[in-house]
Amino acid sequence: MLEVKRILKKFEQKLRTPVIVLFAAAILALVLMNLEFNLLEAKLYDMRMSRGLQAKPDRGIVLVSIDDSTVKAIDEFSPLPLDFHARLLERMETLRPKALGYLVDMNRVNQLDPELFRSEWGKRFTSAANRMEAAGISVLLGTPYDVTGEVIPPYPLSALPHALAFIHKDGNVFADDKVTRRAMTYLDGKPVFHTELAQRLGYLAPGKAPRGNYRIEQIIDGQYFFFRYHGDTTLHPTTDGKAKFAGGSYPIYSFKDVMSGKIPPRAFEDKIVLVGSLTKDDSGDFALTPYSKTPFTNPKLLVHANILDAVIHDHGIVRAPTWVSYAVTFLVIASVLWWVLHSTPLQGVIATLGLAAAFGIIAQAVFQLQGVWIRESQPLVGIFLGYYLAVPYRLIVEYKKRWDYQRRNELLIQVEELKTNFLSLVTHDLKTPVARIQGLSEVLLKKAADRLIDRDKETIGNILNSTDELNRFISSILELNRVESNRISLNLESKDVNQLIERSVEGFKAQARARGQRIEMALEPLFPIKVDASLISKILNNLIDNALKYSPEGCDVVVISREVEPFVEILVKDSGIGLTEAERANLFTRFYRAKNDTTARITGTGLGLYLTKYFVEAHDGQVAVESAPGQGSTFIIRFPLGSAAPAPAAEQASAILKGLTRMIAGIKKEKKEKENV
Ligand code: ADP
Repeated sequence: MLEVKRILKKFEQKLRTPVIVLFAAAILALVLMNLEFNLLEAKLYDMRMSRGLQAKPDRGIVLVSIDDSTVKAIDEFSPLPLDFHARLLERMETLRPKALGYLVDMNRVNQLDPELFRSEWGKRFTSAANRMEAAGISVLLGTPYDVTGEVIPPYPLSALPHALAFIHKDGNVFADDKVTRRAMTYLDGKPVFHTELAQRLGYLAPGKAPRGNYRIEQIIDGQYFFFRYHGDTTLHPTTDGKAKFAGGSYPIYSFKDVMSGKIPPRAFEDKIVLVGSLTKDDSGDFALTPYSKTPFTNPKLLVHANILDAVIHDHGIVRAPTWVSYAVTFLVIASVLWWVLHSTPLQGVIATLGLAAAFGIIAQAVFQLQGVWIRESQPLVGIFLGYYLAVPYRLIVEYKKRWDYQRRNELLIQVEELKTNFLSLVTHDLKTPVARIQGLSEVLLKKAADRLIDRDKETIGNILNSTDELNRFISSILELNRVESNRISLNLESKDVNQLIERSVEGFKAQARARGQRIEMALEPLFPIKVDASLISKILNNLIDNALKYSPEGCDVVVISREVEPFVEILVKDSGIGLTEAERANLFTRFYRAKNDTTARITGTGLGLYLTKYFVEAHDGQVAVESAPGQGSTFIIRFPLGSAAPAPAAEQASAILKGLTRMIAGIKKEKKEKENV
């Protein structure tokens, strides 16, 4: 039962964050998908449409514009009287285009004499159009739209084929910024200008609509499609009043030039020609496009060309289904939440920005290569919203964790303090009774020596040995307490380390002799260095004691001192039991004692080397050990010479002193050798 509970708890802990992430991502995606960010979406749409890989304009579409140069040359207002249009049509007949789309609002075309409009020029216009139709050239008039619906051309032009040709501006449905992004394909079931022309030319089957077509049934029954632009739509200013587009756009000729024949041969042959008005001071001749939202910049004539191009090449943009947007929004939010909750703050920021950039690039590629429009606004808003929601949550979690750590740490410090106090108390209180036992035993041994038999004397000797051991243990514990509570302060003085070594070795001679061991010394003359003499003695005592203790009887110990720039090195070498690699790794941790048959019989606290290391490091020194099992050990301690570098004035004197000492040592050695001989 307990096991099941434990597993369930572990499971719950593991699943908690993924469940929170998925749940939060689902809720956020749901909320965002029910909000519209049309302005942002429109901006992103325009960015995608106007940048990157563009569809090439079909140069089979040619434009004829009633431009400023035409208006000036003819000295009439745009869109010119009907006689000019009739003559243009008669001229077009000879130029043999594939089709003629007439995008001039014929209701605005007049003639001073209305009778002439209907009889002579009206007739000439219609008969030219009919002749062209008979010769296989499609002629289609584009008509405007007002509140009453399609505005039919005036008689007799009304008899000619005509279809609605108006430029749709984004009003209340999408971005409300009057930019032309979509075009009508059908109105009340009837094809509009571009659809009709494409159908007449056989690009589109009758009754069919271009890719991405969709229906909106509001006040009118309209069908639309988001069409693809084919290159920049901005008009380039010219001084001669002729319209000019960016290179690579549709060819455009001035109405005036067509009339006067100043056009390249076969410029219209087998082309779809669109005729329209394009004068700089008529705002009705311009629209706003994704390329520019500046008035008087993008000619409607060019927008018509782009729509027609998109219809005949089936270049409509398809909107991805809503579920795709839901899924994408959910996925990106979940990824951001996951990243922010599981990485460092910097990684979180990088992941968020990276994800936004990656999504943008993928959406752009899908849009331009596949013509599929995945909504970008909700996922992008979701990425940043997810980030801003995850950060405070992460902060709360981190704060809670830190608080837990802090409490645990405080508890540990308290326990440590308690333990130190307890140890110090116990060891302090032990000192007096141990000293008394020691004292009494010594007195007994002295005073009653003649009354005691040998066995009793041996027993009292053992009692004294044990109290010695106990004393050493108590001293180590007290030393440890001083170290752990940082109560060690160095009492530095310039000392010849060799003197300290000699004194320590002297202290161990009796102990060594008792075990048949000898302690050799090989001391190089040294500069005095600044050390705490009592701590250095403790270090040496411990190392020599260990060397003797952990070597079998009869095995000698050597203490070496030498200068190895920039250190003074002291080596304590034995040929004892040695140490394994694992033992060497733990040697300097407190209370560590190697466990083997030999050490089990030797008493110790496991504190000596820990304290040694601490004392050496307090002098900015280093401890090292070289050893292998059964091959003896060498403990090396190094003290920096630097701290003891003599002052410049004393330097010379010191060097002389050192030289003298070396000389004396040499003489002593020589004498000894002679004596031996
Ligand atoms: P202890 O009081 O046990 O000697 P130390 O801290 O001085 O504590 O030494 C830790 C352990 O390191 C010892 O228990 C022993 O196993 C090992 N050790 C220390 N010096 C030597 C040595 N010269 N040769 C072999 N083992 C040693």
